Amino acid sequence: MLLSRRSALAITLGILALPTWPALAAEKVKAVASFSILADLVRQVGGERVEVSTLVGRNGDAHVFQPSPADANRVAGARLLFMNGLGLEGWIERLARASETKATTVVVSAGVRPIEGQDEHAGHGHEHHLDPHAWQDVANTKIYVTNIRDALVAADPGGKETYEANAARYLAELDALDAEVRAAIARIPASRRKIITTHDAFGYFAAAYGIEFIAPQGVSTDAEASAKDVARIIRQIKAQKIPAVFLENVSDPRLLERIAKEGGARIGGKIYSDALSQEGGPASTYIDMIRNNINAFSAALTG
Ligand code: ZN
Repeated sequence: MLLSRRSALAITLGILALPTWPALAAEKVKAVASFSILADLVRQVGGERVEVSTLVGRNGDAHVFQPSPADANRVAGARLLFMNGLGLEGWIERLARASETKATTVVVSAGVRPIEGQDEHAGHGHEHHLDPHAWQDVANTKIYVTNIRDALVAADPGGKETYEANAARYLAELDALDAEVRAAIARIPASRRKIITTHDAFGYFAAAYGIEFIAPQGVSTDAEASAKDVARIIRQIKAQKIPAVFLENVSDPRLLERIAKEGGARIGGKIYSDALSQEGGPASTYIDMIRNNINAFSAALTG
């Protein structure tokens, strides 16, 4: 019996599509990253072999995140759980436990030399916390990338060559970025290298690149700035003629708008401290984020 061409084609496609396709599609390594900046780094190294999902999304605040049941499901299904460490994700241990995940947890900041943040609380003197924002120093981000590479190779040895090549390419891009930051800072007159942000997210940047950062809020966003700190910063802006304050994507702009107004400084633009911008925005990748910030600092402080 002769078949019409159309039914012959349908049969052929049916045969091809049925038993073979699951075997043909290589299964991707499922990874969860705790926040958007880290998700970008995992994607850079993992490439096509890794499926990355993010807990704290773009423009989200990782300090005060509240995981949902859907987040627990994603963690439950993951092979690898990438986190920053240094106290950024206070919520993650509970989430991992609640999800009963078998994922390997990778603390990407392992090997970074931590710096201490200083949070002042009325009546309690000083409380010391580690500063989690190590990614603001590009040299630390290179440590993150090597940790990500090694974890991916261990979880998926078949992808070793791919991960090593991706990491090598990206590490070279980070070297170029680091040089770019240093060149931009060198063009800012030393007396103007002072920056006011909402929360103290740039300690590593300050230590690496030689800009002084002043913030009314400590290294986390979980406590309000005190009236005393706000008054001190306004006095400092006036006394030291600090030219600009910078709004952060993860913080409420109102506090800094008030500080700028009362101190007589201008708003130097929006910078990205703890999260990437929306896709297509000015900080949609880690490299774009650093570049956006350095361009904002340069525009406000050079000249
Ligand atoms: Zn922060």
